[in-house]
Amino acid sequence: WTPYTGPVSSWAAKGPRAVVHCAAPESSLIPDTLNEMAADSTLAAPLTSRDRLEERKLRRRALDAIGVPAFSDFIERETGEEVLLKRSISLLQLNVGLFCNQACTHCHVESSPRRTEAMSEELADHILTVLAASPSVRTVDITGGAPEMSPQFRKLVRGARALGVEVIDRCNLTVLCEPEMGWLPQFLADEGVRVVASLPCYSEENVDKQRGNKVFERSIKGLKMLNALGFGVQGSDLHLDLVYNPGGAFLPPDQAGLKEAYTKQLDDSFGITFNELFTMTNMPIKRFADLLAREKRLEEYMQLLVTSFNPATLSEIMCRELASVGFDGQLYDCDFNYALAMPHGLGINIMDLESLTSLEKAPITTGSHCYGCTAGAGSS
Ligand code: SF4
Ligand code: SF4
Repeated sequence: WTPYTGPVSSWAAKGPRAVVHCAAPESSLIPDTLNEMAADSTLAAPLTSRDRLEERKLRRRALDAIGVPAFSDFIERETGEEVLLKRSISLLQLNVGLFCNQACTHCHVESSPRRTEAMSEELADHILTVLAASPSVRTVDITGGAPEMSPQFRKLVRGARALGVEVIDRCNLTVLCEPEMGWLPQFLADEGVRVVASLPCYSEENVDKQRGNKVFERSIKGLKMLNALGFGVQGSDLHLDLVYNPGGAFLPPDQAGLKEAYTKQLDDSFGITFNELFTMTNMPIKRFADLLAREKRLEEYMQLLVTSFNPATLSEIMCRELASVGFDGQLYDCDFNYALAMPHGLGINIMDLESLTSLEKAPITTGSHCYGCTAGAGSS
């Protein structure tokens, strides 16, 4: 999508609606998430490197079974490009840690309250130095886990905004209701952060099935809090975008039609407004790949992705202009590669770079999961 680059208004100061608060501070979602994890073995433990290798083999076998070549060969055949190359980096994505108050069934980084991996302050400081020396970067996209629960979140937001760079917060919405996070909504408004929030459906049943018990109810409260501050409200410069991903092994429906349905349902039922709705294809990796393999539907899903190949996605795929940084500083071409531990090039740590300009024209690391980015309307 086109990143928002407009000015940050003082809309909230002009007349916000009554601020909506979540339930009592002791009502963290984390105990519920931990209970669900204890009851569901697929959520219990993150994949080991051996599991990851096995997962790649499963995808490869599924492609072999349907007679499809490796993604790089497929792209060369379709476009004549031997390898996908990066352009200058306009988007810097920061994976600040894996801790999350939720443990969603489709989470491609397997976040949960049990994960402790987190970005250090030294790394956050260095990233801001690199950002200052990389004028092509227009947007910093902060993600996790629940990125707001990272100790480095506020430093990174303030540092990037001070450099005049747009900041996106990948917000799971329920984090706005967590104890100790009362500062968050106003902080996001004060810094003019663009909030991009997951809401895979406007029905409670579907959202809770994919994201956990009580998630829908708290997501609605979170959206109301953001609307009350001006996010996603007509006439305000504070942006609130929603992200939809399918609840199963199918491609997302048409984005414009779905936006219309979301707009109507959320407004009619809850009085909630937002700016854009983005649809994402579920990538056949991690928990979702595991689910497909258990249901013996991986082959069918890979077939769906391959037959839905859309050449128009190739110039727009996010890895062309994206540098994704892991919580340990390792560089990746996108966060799916990050999830699969497939680093950029031969493995570069941002601590060894002074600027991101050297990444221009570098080859992009691809794999069979990339078919998910070139299917239908894409997934970037
Ligand atoms: S909220 Fe996001 S980061 Fe957290 S478990 Fe769900 S998908 Fe993963
Ligand atoms: S998964 Fe998508 S964004 Fe990532 S490298 Fe493959 S094509 Fe690019």
